[in-house]
Amino acid sequence: MGRFSTLAAIVLGCLCSCMDKQDAQNDYPILPVSFTEVSVTDNFWAERIKTNHNVTIPIAIEKSRETGRIDNFAIAAGLKEGVFCSPYPFDDSDVYKIIEGAAYSLQMFPDKKLEQTIDSLIYLIGEAQEDDGYLYTNRTIMGANAHEWAGKKRWEKEDILSHELYNLGHFYEAATAYFQTTGKQKIMDIAIKSADLIYDTFGYGKIENYPGHQEVEIGLVKLYRVTGNKKYLELAKFFLDIRGKGSVGEKKTYNQSHLPVTEQNEAVGHSVRGAYMWSGMADMAALTGDKRYLDAITKIWEDIVYKKLYITGGIGAEGGFEGFGGPYELPNMRAYCETCAAIANVFWNHRMFLMTGDAKYIDVLERSLYNNVLSGVSLSGDRFFYPNPLESHGQHQRSEWFGCACCPSNISRFIPSMPNYIYARKGREIYVNLFVQSEVVLKIENNILNISQQTNMPWDGNVIIKVNPSKPENLSLKVRVPGWALNSPVPGDLYRFYNQLPNLPVIRVNGKEENFRIENGYVKINRKWKRGDSIEIGFPFEIRKILANEKIEDDRGKMALQLGPLVYCAEWADYKDPDILSMAVDKDAELISEYNPDILGGITMIRGDAFGIKKVGSNGDTETYPRLFRAIPYYAWAHRGPGQMAVWIPTEAGTARPKPLPAIASSGKLEASYPDGSLFSVNDQLFPENPADKSNLFYDWWPRKNQAEWIICNFEKAETVSSSGVYWFTDTPGGGCDLPASWRLFYKSGESWKPVKTGSPYPLVKDSLNKVFFEPVETSALKLEVQLSADYSAGIYEWVID
Ligand SMILES: [Zn+2]
Repeated sequence: MGRFSTLAAIVLGCLCSCMDKQDAQNDYPILPVSFTEVSVTDNFWAERIKTNHNVTIPIAIEKSRETGRIDNFAIAAGLKEGVFCSPYPFDDSDVYKIIEGAAYSLQMFPDKKLEQTIDSLIYLIGEAQEDDGYLYTNRTIMGANAHEWAGKKRWEKEDILSHELYNLGHFYEAATAYFQTTGKQKIMDIAIKSADLIYDTFGYGKIENYPGHQEVEIGLVKLYRVTGNKKYLELAKFFLDIRGKGSVGEKKTYNQSHLPVTEQNEAVGHSVRGAYMWSGMADMAALTGDKRYLDAITKIWEDIVYKKLYITGGIGAEGGFEGFGGPYELPNMRAYCETCAAIANVFWNHRMFLMTGDAKYIDVLERSLYNNVLSGVSLSGDRFFYPNPLESHGQHQRSEWFGCACCPSNISRFIPSMPNYIYARKGREIYVNLFVQSEVVLKIENNILNISQQTNMPWDGNVIIKVNPSKPENLSLKVRVPGWALNSPVPGDLYRFYNQLPNLPVIRVNGKEENFRIENGYVKINRKWKRGDSIEIGFPFEIRKILANEKIEDDRGKMALQLGPLVYCAEWADYKDPDILSMAVDKDAELISEYNPDILGGITMIRGDAFGIKKVGSNGDTETYPRLFRAIPYYAWAHRGPGQMAVWIPTEAGTARPKPLPAIASSGKLEASYPDGSLFSVNDQLFPENPADKSNLFYDWWPRKNQAEWIICNFEKAETVSSSGVYWFTDTPGGGCDLPASWRLFYKSGESWKPVKTGSPYPLVKDSLNKVFFEPVETSALKLEVQLSADYSAGIYEWVID
């Protein structure tokens, strides 16, 4: 069994093997079967886990090096000269997350070189730790000149933005994982020295403040599980309980400190902070037996799943504060759905399942996992999404890295832990939660039980589960029946299937069809299992048409498609005419699915008939024409260049967005003083629908300011024009673009530019079309000259010419 033999639920932090150190009464009633006992043998997940090891982790280390994140430790350690050299005081946490990911990955892929790299990082971290255990490179390097978010003294701005405890939470997760993988004590020594300082610093009668970004709660619980030292559990409980209490810290919804945690019942504020906290509360409910934590997070879960969950399993609609909008506020193009929030949603829902044994939590977990989480990383493992929108004009593309790099580093640690979510166990009950071709070996008293799944999921619905005990054994196998194989995409009435399934799943035990009852989302097969027994499951694998609750404005008159656990989208690259937002599909249209091994790493595509909608005449009349419909799994979009994408497909002409009729500006060719890829958006005939609509593409001159700039529109042929208007892009306060100081229009006359003759001043109003009328001129081009203001740059959503 080697050095991994003591390993159990590494992701939750050694849940099983340390049970003897804890009160067996007080923990999750169900234990995950750790990914260390599970081998994934499919072509879907195994491929991604390998890519994460070979590509994502090395890239994350390299990017951390390039961006100064690793130098920060060397400088804090006094091994290198310099100042804090990355953008944010929480950048330490990326290095910790990479170590955690490497720890999981090393379980599957022993890799001496990677292990040496991680050891050298741990050496630097140890050297960067101050004598009393304090670990936060920004302050150690910068002293009184620390980042403005960090404050002048230790912990002074902890409840605001310093992220001192947030970094440590990730460090404790990394330390326990790396220790469990390698048995190396060094990283645990650093973690314990740090946590002991935190224990002496925070608590009742000490500093009574809460963490500004939750995470340390999860980390401390893992430290407790591995060390068995109850003071870390006590400290985690303190950090939860002090939140929103008394005179401590500012109370705000942004970081869920507006109320004591057990009195909260709605999902508000920053979604990653929230979901990390709710995961910590689940741990606390399990470990202390205090039901108040579970009651609160159950209400919050219902608030999300009934009102605030995207069909992709994404949470957190609002970009401005990276958090939850109001009930049913689920816009598609400006959906935030941060990758980290989807990962946190998996953590949380897994814990809810371990607590309750209810498959509805796995339904939500699976939805987040196969859709929003997977979309967060490219198939090649080297490009990342931070927000994961459900609709695009092409403005969204994955990036190599981000200044704030939480998402890629989170991906690097999450993907190798994925097998942890497939199986779980409660005594003699074995749960099969996810359908992934895999093998697991379990020890049940004196018996060794080998369970394997053969399946081609997510590409078809057939699963064969083989049960091989070394001697006959009485056990219950609890097989999850996913909501998509029945008639409910998620609990509640936020989404519903339009087409009901004609058939129920079919289950055969040793070839004999069994009648079954579904309880809490599971079929329980209870028998004396012997070598060679098998269960065959046929889940109905039909394209499911999903309709949203009418209260979700952006989804009205549209449908989404799901096949197995995968949500689908239409993407421009599969169409002759890449304008797909002007297309609709009848709700009753017959759709078929077909596996195509040659595109996007092998995917099942959905095909059928659609209709296009185009404008005819200037009175708004439209005409429809036949088009072909194609859809791909959402996770696979944005691999073939920028263009339109939509998860929610119009089902009627009225909800499609036909292209406006060609206009003078829209058919003209643009040039600009500062050309870039977004220039086309100036004449794409798309305006914000209202001041709050930030989904439109724009062109801007940022970071230039206090100078003159221009755009020229060269017409297809000479035109007589007499008016023109500009809809300015502004993002003040906070952003860099405001209205310009002034603007003027010139027309081309021979080879020279002449000002148009207008009797009135050029208007300058935010959030509207600034129109100017002038004496008609016949010309082949119009030039818009813009004087940028002294303090801000300027940008344009749309320029129209009549
Ligand atoms: Zn993130």
